[in-house]
Amino acid sequence: MKIICIGRNYAAHIRELNNAIPDEPVIFIKPDSAVLRNNAPFFIPDFTTDVHHEVELIVKICKTGKSIPQQFAHSYYQEIGLGIDFTARDLQNKLKEKGLPWEKAKGFDHSAVIGKFISKEGLDLNHLDFSLQKNGEVVQSGNTEQMIHNIDAIIAHVSQYFMLKIGDLIFTGTPEGVGAVKPGDELRGFIGDRNMFRCAVK
Ligand code: ZN
Repeated sequence: MKIICIGRNYAAHIRELNNAIPDEPVIFIKPDSAVLRNNAPFFIPDFTTDVHHEVELIVKICKTGKSIPQQFAHSYYQEIGLGIDFTARDLQNKLKEKGLPWEKAKGFDHSAVIGKFISKEGLDLNHLDFSLQKNGEVVQSGNTEQMIHNIDAIIAHVSQYFMLKIGDLIFTGTPEGVGAVKPGDELRGFIGDRNMFRCAVK
């Protein structure tokens, strides 16, 4: 199982980090050791003092495919979920400055919070509200209509490079409002008003 993540997919988030709007999706991968499930706590690793939350809609792949045409992409997923792409922002900025890959800042152990999954049936995936609360206050909220590349476009693009397999997960990018977490924080993610995960920061 692999986790494919899309960077810079929401214009307001691109602006808050002073990045350029990409003409095709920015892709990176987290290893399976990054998974943090079942509302388990997140321990801030020693190598960073600036871990940011990035709440993201997650797509779970249900069929193997390569070079999937966009018009057929919808048949490769039945469920969506919500999670956090934890990012060691200080480390990422150092790596970016040197033009090096982001893996240490993005793919470290337990950096991928994964909540429960729900059927996509009956959901309007192009107009879906989601949000992240930190200590009871909304810190990030987005709607999938703000995505630069929608789910089907992401699947079409990603699958040109990486064969998608059953159980693979795609993190579809974060809206604005990313910020640092500290020990004692509690994060809760929502699709609409449905609670998808909680995560205590230690
Ligand atoms: Zn992200």
